[in-house]
Amino acid sequence: MQVYEAPLRDMRFVIHELHQDDGFGNLEALEEFSPDLVDAVLEEAAKVAQEVLLPLNRSGDIEGCALENGVVRTPKGFKEAYDMFRDGGWCALASDPEWGGQGLPEAVNKMTEEMICSANLSFSLYPGLTHGGTTAIEAYASDELKQFYLPKMVSGEWSGTMCLTEPHCGTDLGMLRTKAVPQDDGSYKLSGAKIFISAGEHDLTPNIIHLVLARLPDAPAGVKGISLFLVPKYLPKDDGTPGPSNGVSVAAIEHKMGLKASATCQLNFDESTGWLVGKPHKGMEAMFKMMNTERVSVGVQGLGVGEAAYQSAVWYAKDRLQGRSLSGVKNPNGPADPIIVHPDVRRMLMTMRAYNEGCRALGGWVSRALDAEKHATDPAVKQNAEDFIALMTPVVKALFTDLGHESANLAVQVYGGHGYIAESGVEQYARDARIAMIYEGTNGIQALDLVGRKMPAHMGRYLRSFFHPVSSFIEANKADAQFAPMIVGLEKAFGALQLSTGTIAQKGMKDPEEAGAAATDYLRLMGLVAMAYCFAKSALIARDKLAGGSEDAGFYKAKLATAQFYFDRILPQATAAFLAIKAGKASMMALDEAAF
Ligand SMILES: Cc1cc2nc3c(=O)[nH]c(=O)nc-3n(C[C@H](O)[C@H](O)[C@H](O)COP(=O)(O)OP(=O)(O)OC[C@H]3O[C@@H](n4cnc5c(N)ncnc54)[C@H](O)[C@@H]3O)c2cc1C
Repeated sequence: MQVYEAPLRDMRFVIHELHQDDGFGNLEALEEFSPDLVDAVLEEAAKVAQEVLLPLNRSGDIEGCALENGVVRTPKGFKEAYDMFRDGGWCALASDPEWGGQGLPEAVNKMTEEMICSANLSFSLYPGLTHGGTTAIEAYASDELKQFYLPKMVSGEWSGTMCLTEPHCGTDLGMLRTKAVPQDDGSYKLSGAKIFISAGEHDLTPNIIHLVLARLPDAPAGVKGISLFLVPKYLPKDDGTPGPSNGVSVAAIEHKMGLKASATCQLNFDESTGWLVGKPHKGMEAMFKMMNTERVSVGVQGLGVGEAAYQSAVWYAKDRLQGRSLSGVKNPNGPADPIIVHPDVRRMLMTMRAYNEGCRALGGWVSRALDAEKHATDPAVKQNAEDFIALMTPVVKALFTDLGHESANLAVQVYGGHGYIAESGVEQYARDARIAMIYEGTNGIQALDLVGRKMPAHMGRYLRSFFHPVSSFIEANKADAQFAPMIVGLEKAFGALQLSTGTIAQKGMKDPEEAGAAATDYLRLMGLVAMAYCFAKSALIARDKLAGGSEDAGFYKAKLATAQFYFDRILPQATAAFLAIKAGKASMMALDEAAF
């Protein structure tokens, strides 16, 4: 059964308690958002997720989207849910008030995104992509385009897409062929075929604004010849209502493993009118603005599904009676004990719990940086925030989605055979979560981004935005007798990360394949250290709260136990990642292609 109750207590812990001293300071621009207001928004978001979106999750999966006479129909209930979501202002939560947004802190926005993804991942893509689109338009489009399109997109009246992928090019966008021909009036005519376009066509909004990568006639070959265009499905009339059709048609919707209520479309652009966003041939720069926003959000998708899967697994583990506890009967009036008594089931539940809490804590830290990037007045704080975001974006995207999928798989395992049967609802989580490891740049590409671009950037300046707080924390808490084992564990894993950084930098300079071979393990190692730092901080806070006689002792005791589990049972993966990095590429690349 799909059960979900938003983890509000943990979210409040991350927002109000965990990251207060993270170097990003208190932001004056966000002072109006008092803790009470933040909590009230989170509570309302939880209601939307639990009461509106969750009930449509399984029905949407069963029904899926349908293409009828060139129009895509979303599953029953989605249109009503979207109208309610838009009218409630949820599309505009973190957007700039200048365009009709509410300007809430990203820290709150990301928690809200998590809840939506837990309740209904398919639904989350419709408003999610629109939000990503608005960030690119805001940063790169002309004032005219901004004035015309942003208010409608920010409010959710019109939705957005990102159109990159073509049949012959996914990762390697340098090969894309869609053409854009300049017109006398300053617009362009776009022609080409795109595939796998999320929310490319649907019945939720009266217009859809496509952000399309295409080539100008004089474009240089490769990624240096790609430009970005805004192409509406319907050309708007002067009064702002959708006008004539703009030659964008849907050839098919993809039949896919999961995410069935999200319309993934093959789109044809046939002399469609568009306008340039940003400079000619600089489309990748503008698209990266959108993709980086989306990459953090895709990470949050992984966390959202991981949390939903965990809660469903806990519910089942308390309900399902099988076998007796190894430490003596726990349910003497029943024919067997609930499976939650078994250590191996606990292993799975605690692993999921630790992944979710670790990712939420790290995501909260990155969200604080996103807020500082936008609002900090001190240039040094702003720069530090930008560096930290640049470094952590691939980590959040790949780590959270890998762990989210692992959690979904563990939930299936907790359910046993029933987990493999559709009625249980948990196999949907495993199918839905799988795509998050692939789109917005596969997780392998995120790892390459980390070692190839982020690690060496500005002589390691991005790395310092992360390494400095971790080493200061270790120094400051080394002498804490109660937490010495935890701090030593963090110090060792951090040492392995520093050593690996040096090894990759050295070997990779001589042989780029060495860096490529180490990338995925390096990203995992960095993610493990980042979560260890968050857990160690959490444990210290929990200990102090308990010592101070907190009324919320249950929460803090559970936090301490989960942190301890993380250090005992998950952080040791750091050693494996370190050894794999050290081993280098030799055995990975040893076989001739013919031997495969
Ligand atoms: C449900 C769904 C929704 C999607 N939504 C959108 C959307 O809204 N808009 C959009 O534009 N696209 C979308 N996509 C496309 C998605 O972003 C691509 O599938 C993804 O970028 C990977 O491209 P590809 O499928 O062509 O795989 P390929 O690029 O062919 O990659 C295949 C494998 O090779 C690896 N690989 C490729 N190149 C390298 C390299 N240089 N070094 C190391 N490894 C490499 C990859 O990591 C991967 O494991 C969607 C896809 C799906 C399935």
